[in-house]
Amino acid sequence: MADVTIIGGGIIGLASASALQDRGYSVEIIERGAVGLGASYGNCGLLAPGEVVPISKPGVLSRIPKWLFDPEGPLFVRPQGLARDLTWLLRFLRAGRVDRVRHIASSLAPMMRRVNADYASLLQKIARPDLLSSVENLMLFNHRSEYDRDRFTWDLRTELGFGHTFITGDEVRRLEPAIEGPVTCGVVMTDWFHFPDPYALSMALEADIVRRGGRVLKANAVGFEHRDGQVGKIVFDTGERLDVTQVVLAAGAWSGPLAKKLGLNIPLAHLNGYHVHAPRPNVEVQRAIYYASGGFVLTPMATGLRIGGTIEVAGPDPKPNYRRADVLAERARAILPALDIEGSTRWMGPRPFIPDTMPVIGAAPTFRNVTLAFGHGQIGMTLGATTGQLVAQIVSGEAPDVNLAPYSPVRFG
Ligand SMILES: Cc1cc2nc3c(=O)[nH]c(=O)nc-3n(C[C@H](O)[C@H](O)[C@H](O)COP(=O)(O)OP(=O)(O)OC[C@H]3O[C@@H](n4cnc5c(N)ncnc54)[C@H](O)[C@@H]3O)c2cc1C
Repeated sequence: MADVTIIGGGIIGLASASALQDRGYSVEIIERGAVGLGASYGNCGLLAPGEVVPISKPGVLSRIPKWLFDPEGPLFVRPQGLARDLTWLLRFLRAGRVDRVRHIASSLAPMMRRVNADYASLLQKIARPDLLSSVENLMLFNHRSEYDRDRFTWDLRTELGFGHTFITGDEVRRLEPAIEGPVTCGVVMTDWFHFPDPYALSMALEADIVRRGGRVLKANAVGFEHRDGQVGKIVFDTGERLDVTQVVLAAGAWSGPLAKKLGLNIPLAHLNGYHVHAPRPNVEVQRAIYYASGGFVLTPMATGLRIGGTIEVAGPDPKPNYRRADVLAERARAILPALDIEGSTRWMGPRPFIPDTMPVIGAAPTFRNVTLAFGHGQIGMTLGATTGQLVAQIVSGEAPDVNLAPYSPVRFG
C-alpha cells in the first residue's frame, strides 16, 4: 500500500506526487483516462504570477448581458449550463465586488509570489528547465483606452508587487515583428513566462515519479469506504476497492462528485475553454501573447502555435462546440494575417472553477487522512508546483509556507 494515493493525474496531482516523494513518501496516482490529458493538456501554457484578479471584477458585470446572448463571445452560457449553474453564476458575479476582488487578489498573492521559484526547483529536479520559456509574456491592445479601462486591475497588481511595462505599438512590433493589424500598444508582463509544451511537462513529471518508485493506476474512482473518521478504501467503478493510507483529491473539474462523497458541498463548475493548435502556422512569435482586444491567447508551442481562450458554462463534459475554437483562429488573423491553420487540431477542456477564483487546498474537514487540491480555475498551470509543495506540507504536518485560510474547503458557508 502506498503512503499517499492521489486521485487525478493532471498538473496538480503530478506536482503533489513529486513533492511528496521529495519528503520520502511512496505515492500512487489514480487516473481514469491518461495522465496529462485533462485541462493540463490543452491550456494556453501561461505561467502568470500577476493573474491574481478574478475574471469577475468591477466593469465586467455590465458586459455580461451582451456576452450571454452571443455564442461566439468570450463568455457564453449554454441554456443547460444556466439551469444547472445559476447559483454558481450568481456567486461568481458577487465575487466581482470591489471589496471581494481586493480580498481575492491579496489572498492569491502570497502563492503567486512563489510560483516562479517553485517551478524553477521542480524543473531543476527533473532536469528539464527547457520546459519553461524565459521570454516574458506580452498583452496587446487596439486602443490605449482598453488598457486604461482596466486601471483598477493594473493598480491592484502593482500594489501587490506584480509589475508590468506599458509599450507603444512600435515597441510591440520591435519585439514581435509578425504582429500586424490594429494593435497600437501593449504591456510586457514582468515575470510571466510560458510552458512551450504543457503535455511534455506532465509526461516528464510522470516519468520522474515512476523512476522514483511511484506508480500510476488506470482506474475511475467513484467513492470511498471509511471508518473512524478516516478513508480506508477508494471504490472504483468496476466495484474493486483499493486500500489507502492518505488520499489527495486532485481530480480537477471532476472533483465535485468525489468531494460530495466525502461529505463536502463545494461549488465547483466546469468553465470550458477551447484551442486551435496550428502545427505549421507560417508566422513566428517569440512569446506568449494575450490579445486583450480579441479575448484570446497566442502561445508559441514546441509543436506549433496555439490559439486558446473563451469561457463556456455548459455543465460537465458537454459535446464540444468547435465553432468557438474556429472563432479564435479567425480572430487571430486580425493581427497575424499570414496565419496558416492547415492541419490544425481543435480541443475543448474544463477549467475547474470555484466562484471566488481561488482553489481549494487543505485538509478535508470530514476525514483526517484526506487532502483536497482542486479548483485552480484559469491559473492551474501557474499554481501547479506551488500547490504541490503545499499539499506535501499538509500531508506531512509541516507548517505551510503560505496561509491556507483563504483556500479552505469550509469557506463557502
Ligand atoms: C483553454 C484553457 C486555457 C488555460 N490556460 C491556462 C494558462 O495559460 N495558465 C494557467 O495557469 N492555467 C490555464 N488554464 C487552467 C489550467 O489548465 C487548469 O487549471 C489546470 O490544468 C488544472 O489542473 P488539474 O490537475 O487540477 O486538472 P486536470 O488537468 O483536468 O487533471 C485532472 C485529472 O483527473 C482525472 N480524473 C478526474 N476524475 C477522476 C476519477 N474519478 N478517477 C480518476 N481520475 C480522475 C482526469 O482524467 C484528469 O486527468 C487553462 C485552461 C483552459 C481550459
